[in-house]
Amino acid sequence: MPGGESERTVVECLECGSAYAARRWGDGTIQPIGRKNGCQCGATAFRTIGGASETAR
Ligand SMILES: [Zn+2]
Repeated sequence: MPGGESERTVVECLECGSAYAARRWGDGTIQPIGRKNGCQCGATAFRTIGGASETAR
């Protein structure tokens, strides 16, 4: 694996509950994949609902 300590996880919007695939970086940053501007509802706060490091798609 090339460098970069990120793992895939799943996050849920705190406002509307929409779930997105995301990357969690070694420093704790969570970045929803394909959602640079946050949730479809406009919120940018998410919580992790995944957590398994072995997520096969
Ligand atoms: Zn939302």
